[in-house]
Amino acid sequence: MANRVFNFNPGPAALPLPVLAEAQRDLLAYDGTGMSIMEMSHRSAPFQAINAETEALTKELLGLNDDYRVLFLQGGASTQFAMVPLNFLGRDQTADYLITGSFSEKAHKEAQLIGKTHIAADTTTTGHNRIPPTDEINFSPNPAYIHLTSNNTICGTQWHEFPTDGDIPLVADMSSDILSRPFAVNKFALIYAGAQKNLGPAGVTVVIIRQDLLEKASTNLPSMLRYDIHAKNDSLYNTPPCFAIYMVNLVLKWVKNQGGLPAIARHNAEKAALIYEVIDNSGGFYRGHAVPDSRSLMNITFRLPGEDLEKAFVREATAAGLVGLKGHRSVGGLRASIYNAMSREGCVALAGFMREFQQKNG
Ligand SMILES: *Cc1c(COP(=O)(O)O)cnc(C)c1O
Repeated sequence: MANRVFNFNPGPAALPLPVLAEAQRDLLAYDGTGMSIMEMSHRSAPFQAINAETEALTKELLGLNDDYRVLFLQGGASTQFAMVPLNFLGRDQTADYLITGSFSEKAHKEAQLIGKTHIAADTTTTGHNRIPPTDEINFSPNPAYIHLTSNNTICGTQWHEFPTDGDIPLVADMSSDILSRPFAVNKFALIYAGAQKNLGPAGVTVVIIRQDLLEKASTNLPSMLRYDIHAKNDSLYNTPPCFAIYMVNLVLKWVKNQGGLPAIARHNAEKAALIYEVIDNSGGFYRGHAVPDSRSLMNITFRLPGEDLEKAFVREATAAGLVGLKGHRSVGGLRASIYNAMSREGCVALAGFMREFQQKNG
């Protein structure tokens, strides 16, 4: 395969090579139809079959029962920041937010425009380098829902156990770690994820919603912002992002082929350990941003002893075929995003590069 690099981009991110190859094979004529998925009606039988199968595969891989619906929407995770409160934050209610990074801050900001919110925990004062322990979380009495970000893409932390509060609906932005590990899906009333990290290309947002919450969704909104309308129409209320949904379908089949979430999770833990090991054994040359028990297995964030060294690191890594390692502009440093599609081989290569770079510059 010509000229493929090890792609550590945070999103849009690497896709599995077999998925790209299959999309390439089908690009001009999908399954005997004589046309591309991009050229056919979203109401055609072939596309309807893809749409239905993609919902079924999502449910199968996540172990969701028929209490849940899976929707394919547009507008990215950022539109969900607003859609969640628009649909579920009633006039006399409060929504609780767990602030663990810049995306949860953004989600909270949108909710503040719509209704009353309460910050149940906030890790700003330590630079979002950790997940708050249970005794730091203070829920309000009877909130409309609790919102959290399961994996903090920019700072590199991840919830390893989810907080709950009785029967209060738990809502999660899982954009950067959905399908990376098994988790207790039944704890959640709503999960959303922009596809471009772990699910496919940009352009589609997967929303998983429990029936009992769906029934409470506001009907006093423009149609495109109503979960109930999208659900009633099987995500085909208007033209959906057909090609992106097709790509998600292929990625889900790839995950299934890898052995599903348990196998993917083992693989992801091994990959992350290869890089964290180098950080932990570097005698302080590499400094991980996240405290060890809050570390993300998807986004590994670290610093070097100076910004010039960080720049040299990015430059030399790129020359060695390891791309996308620059940290987010808001925090600096370095970040290796190692979603499902990043191979073990890529992590071995990065770990080797890091050791060599330290030998030369440490
Ligand atoms: C990337 C990301 C977003 C933003 O998603 P868009 O699809 O660009 O709106 C939101 N939340 C998390 C956790 C992300 O990683």
